[in-house]
Amino acid sequence: MDTKILDTDENSIKEAGKIIAGGGLVAFPTETVYGLGADAFDSDAAAKIYEAKGRPSDNPLIVHISDKSQIDELSAGYSEKAKKLIDAFMPGPFTIILKKSERVPDGVTACMDTVGIRFPENETARRFIAASGVPVAAPSANISGKPSPTTARDVMDDMMGRIDAIIDGGSCSVGVESTIVDASGDTPVVLRPGGITYDEICAVVPDAVIDPHILESLKDGEKPKCPGMKYKHYAPEAEVYVVEGNMADVKKKITELVNENEKAGKICGVLTMSENAYDGAVILQGGMTNKEYAKGLFANLREFDRLKVDIVYAEFEERDGYGLAVKNRLYKSAGQRVIYV
Ligand code: AMP
Ligand code: MG
Repeated sequence: MDTKILDTDENSIKEAGKIIAGGGLVAFPTETVYGLGADAFDSDAAAKIYEAKGRPSDNPLIVHISDKSQIDELSAGYSEKAKKLIDAFMPGPFTIILKKSERVPDGVTACMDTVGIRFPENETARRFIAASGVPVAAPSANISGKPSPTTARDVMDDMMGRIDAIIDGGSCSVGVESTIVDASGDTPVVLRPGGITYDEICAVVPDAVIDPHILESLKDGEKPKCPGMKYKHYAPEAEVYVVEGNMADVKKKITELVNENEKAGKICGVLTMSENAYDGAVILQGGMTNKEYAKGLFANLREFDRLKVDIVYAEFEERDGYGLAVKNRLYKSAGQRVIYV
């Protein structure tokens, strides 16, 4: 299949909308990461997403809207707390889980009785969804298991020849996925930390809790609330280790590890959140705040692969409300290899 690269002008967005209406797949920019979209009311189109990504069929898709009125088409009704969350965070880097309406096919929700709904802030995303004339089901536009794409080039690396079109809308401003809150029950539960912090959620619904699995891998046989929790995620080709603690100790530990592995002939990379220097290693600056670090995280992991780095050491220290979102992604990309110093 030829994959068309589209611009963000009016004609290109119209063309992208037509592809969706015709049952095709289009990758599009949002403020979080690039999404891979299909008509959310068309099971066959949704099935193509799973195929293109190599995504396990029990991992549901988030449905994207361009107008709040579409929430009523997708959900079977919602609570006062859910309404508060919708009013506070939509549009934005936020996904709400609600009981689904009968219009949403099982092929989109992986047979769950709930649906994840997101209203992106990004203008191109909104114009594209509106041009499609239907809500757009979209996971991140990467091959399953790889870091999420935050530029059209990242999407091209994974999806050329597999999908109909890619809208090139530049770099994503948030860089990690939306915060997912399950508001289908009495107590709102944060299932995935992201572009909206836990403190921001609690300011609106003070009884919100964080799912305890956010930073852990699941034990054998344990059932996750958010199916995506159980899969290998965000992993570049390089082997990633997180080294967490104060930056002086982190520097000592990583210096040791780099020296050891260089001698063994490995190319080492370090993702920093300090002024620390590491002789002989490829250094990418992740940013001094967790927010900045989040924004560049997936792009940096992909860049280490382009630079043919074998082992990445990621400096990490929790510094602000985005720390949880970074940790959640970083621990998974490291397959939970975390060295605390
Ligand atoms: P991605 O679009 O790649 O960020 O993946 C979407 C994430 O949303 C996955 O981790 C899914 O498991 C999660 N998700 C989507 N729909 C639901 C739902 N109805 N209930 C719980 N989690 C969901
Ligand atoms: Mg994803």
